[in-house]
Amino acid sequence: MDKKIDPLKRFHNEDWHTPEGRHVREFVFGINDGLVTTVGFIAGVTGALVSVKLVLMSGMAEILAGTISMFFGSFLATRSQNEFYQKEINREKREIRENPSKEIEEIYEIYEGKGFTKEEIDPIAKRLISDKKNLLDFMIQDELNISLDYYEKPLKNASYTGLSFLAGGIPPLLPYFFEKNSVVAMIYAIIVSFLVLVLTGTLKSRITKTGWLKSSLEMVLIGGSAAAVGFICGKFISLV
Ligand SMILES: [Zn+2]
Repeated sequence: MDKKIDPLKRFHNEDWHTPEGRHVREFVFGINDGLVTTVGFIAGVTGALVSVKLVLMSGMAEILAGTISMFFGSFLATRSQNEFYQKEINREKREIRENPSKEIEEIYEIYEGKGFTKEEIDPIAKRLISDKKNLLDFMIQDELNISLDYYEKPLKNASYTGLSFLAGGIPPLLPYFFEKNSVVAMIYAIIVSFLVLVLTGTLKSRITKTGWLKSSLEMVLIGGSAAAVGFICGKFISLV
């Protein structure tokens, strides 16, 4: 609308496009996983006629183990992704050095794919091959389909995922601190989990700019059915 706004700046003012907005993946994944695992766990052991204290203690052990596992899982996953991208980029660098004529062919292929004519590509290709750095950036984005800011910090992702798991895992366990009847505590835990899923969905919708109702329903449906499946499996196994 307003032509004076720098499109790049406008783009980056939206939460989703800020680096932090990207971490919506870690938050949603961690919270959902922490909550679902804990509720499934609680519901599973409650049927076995155990004391509230035992549910609380084993629940805390479960959350701790889950947090550590999510932390290292995310750390390794992020590092592997960085390594894979870096390897691809190194190979592209080598190809540019060793087989530049093949790269020129690729420039034409890529732009022909975008609907450019040979005459239109000629000056672009000339410009690209005159600067090795430009050519590499172009190949990274258009041939490898890797973003130039692909690098994600393993420790940061790991912390977000681990802490989100912890944040999702603790609420279902809270009723066990106050309620002495384990079945009543389990019902509270389910209600608390429902509320946390709605809250997470609402927060997620603020980052992704989607409707809060749709976002919350999605969290409740997916998280709820995962917990239900976990519960049914637990029951089935305990029956067998
Ligand atoms: Zn290439």
